[in-house]
Amino acid sequence: MDPLRRRTLLKVIVLGDSGVGKTSLMNQYVYKKFSQQYKATIGADFVTKELQIDDKLVTLQVWDTAGQERFHSLGAAFYRGADCCVLVYDVNVGKTFESLSNWREEFLKQADPADPEAFPFVLLGNKIDVDGGHSRVVSEKRANEWCASRGNIPYFETSAKEDYNVDEAFFCVAQAALASE
Ligand code: GDP
Ligand code: MG
Repeated sequence: MDPLRRRTLLKVIVLGDSGVGKTSLMNQYVYKKFSQQYKATIGADFVTKELQIDDKLVTLQVWDTAGQERFHSLGAAFYRGADCCVLVYDVNVGKTFESLSNWREEFLKQADPADPEAFPFVLLGNKIDVDGGHSRVVSEKRANEWCASRGNIPYFETSAKEDYNVDEAFFCVAQAALASE
């Protein structure tokens, strides 16, 4: 393999209500770390992860919010040039699922992709570990229906805490981003 071959930079943005686990999922994916502590104001602009997809080397640049999602004021630079948008909700909190359409519309409005219908989203239903799944209020079926009616958005149920499905979900994100690039 040619060591000088340039990596493809893929920009991914992660959206969803405050507290659903966006920062935790990114930390688990990139640093293999989880913290119970709630640090709403902490967060780098983005984290990066290098990976290989088929024979292509890519750098996934994943953008986090530093708590601004509470005010829906993320700024145009945050959305600009995104190759994939990850939507996250908490399977135990119904209103975080109800917010998804708003986040998706907000993204499409701000990022203004050439073909909104074809733009790749990936949905993550996080915190499936809580109470052994007994406190969940959004069923997998309901989430799958939401995805099916929006052009078959890929859906993953995840736990940032237990590191469940996190690599799988972000690999799908990277593939979707690469395909749209
Ligand atoms: P963000 O506001 O969307 O970035 O959410 P955070 O990543 O800051 O997480 C909010 C809280 O939920 C923190 O206390 C995390 O420790 C916790 N949390 C995040 N993901 C999970 C998970 O998968 N399972 C459990 N049990 N807690 C989680
Ligand atoms: Mg956060």
